[in-house]
Amino acid sequence: MVRVRFAPSPTGQLHIGGARTALFNYLFARKHNGKFVLRIEDTDLERSREEWAKGIMKSLRWLGIEWDEGPDVGGEFGPYFQSQRKEIYLEYIQKLLEEGKAYYCFCTHEEIEREREIARQQKIPYKYSKKCRNISLEDAKKKIENGEKAVVRIKAPMEGTTVVHDIIRGDVEFSNDHLDDFIILKSDGNPTYNFVCVIDDYLMKISHVIRAEEHLSNTPKQLIIYEALNIQPPQFAHVPMILAPDRSKLSKRHGATSVEEFFENGYLKEAIVNYLLLLGWSPGEDRTIITLDEAIQKFELEKVSKNAAIYDINKLTWI
Ligand code: GLU
Repeated sequence: MVRVRFAPSPTGQLHIGGARTALFNYLFARKHNGKFVLRIEDTDLERSREEWAKGIMKSLRWLGIEWDEGPDVGGEFGPYFQSQRKEIYLEYIQKLLEEGKAYYCFCTHEEIEREREIARQQKIPYKYSKKCRNISLEDAKKKIENGEKAVVRIKAPMEGTTVVHDIIRGDVEFSNDHLDDFIILKSDGNPTYNFVCVIDDYLMKISHVIRAEEHLSNTPKQLIIYEALNIQPPQFAHVPMILAPDRSKLSKRHGATSVEEFFENGYLKEAIVNYLLLLGWSPGEDRTIITLDEAIQKFELEKVSKNAAIYDINKLTWI
C-alpha cells in the first residue's frame, strides 16, 4: 500500500519548491491508488503560525491537491499537527533510553564550546566527546530529579557507512565518521526534527518519503533512528532543488515564488500546475502542456531529474 506525506513547516507561505514536492507526492499516491497524508510540522513554536498552516492548506487546494488524511479531513493516524503529538514522541525517547540506545547528556554549552575550540585548534571536525555515554540511566534520572538540565543523545555508530537507497539519486553513501551522537531531545523538553519525523513516518505507515533534496543529509541520521527502534525505514526519493536562472538560490528578487502570490496576481492555476509539474520531471514525448489528471497516469519517480531545475518567471508570463 503506497502512503506518502507532505510535511510542511508552517513558517511562511507555500513556496514553489514545497508546492512541487506536494504535487509529486500527490501524483505518486494517485497513480498507485495510495493515500496522501498532510502533516503540519509545527514543532518550532517560535516560527510556526496557525495562519501559515491555513495559508498552505488554501494554496494546496487552489492547486487541486486534496489530501486523504490530515487537518480538516482527519484520519486514523492523527492528530496531524506535530505540536499535538509530543506525548507520543516522548514515549519513544523513553524506550530508547531504557534500552540503552540513547542517553542523557549533561554537558553544558560551555563544555561543548570548549570541546569545539580544541577541535578548531587541532583543525579536526568537531565531534561530541561522548563522555556522558557512561552515565547510567539511574544516575541520570537522579541528576534530573535534582534539577540538572540534560539533552538526550542517540548512540550513533562510530565506524562504517550508512547508505541511503534513493529512488531518484541511486545509492548515496555517508561515512559514519561524520555522524555524531546527535541530539533527539533538547534541554527545553522538545524532540528534534529528525526524531519526530521518523516516529511520524513510522506511525503514519508512510511507504515512500518524497521530499526536498536539502533533507538528504538528514536521512542517514533518520536511518540510525530507524535502526535503534528496530523498524523498517520507508523508501526515499529526494527531489532536486529549484534554482534561479543564474543558478543562484531562488529568492524574492526572482519574482513570485509562492503559490499565494500566483493566485493573488490572477495566474491560472492550470498554468502554474503545468509549469511546476515540468520543473524537473518530464512525461516524455517533448510535452509542454499537461494536466494534473494526465500527469497522474504518467508519473514515475524514476523519471524525476537528478539535476536542479531552473525556475524562470518569464516563462510563465505568456500564459
Ligand atoms: N518540515 C520539513 C520542511 O518543511 C519537511 C521535512 C520532511 O519532508 O521530512 O522542510
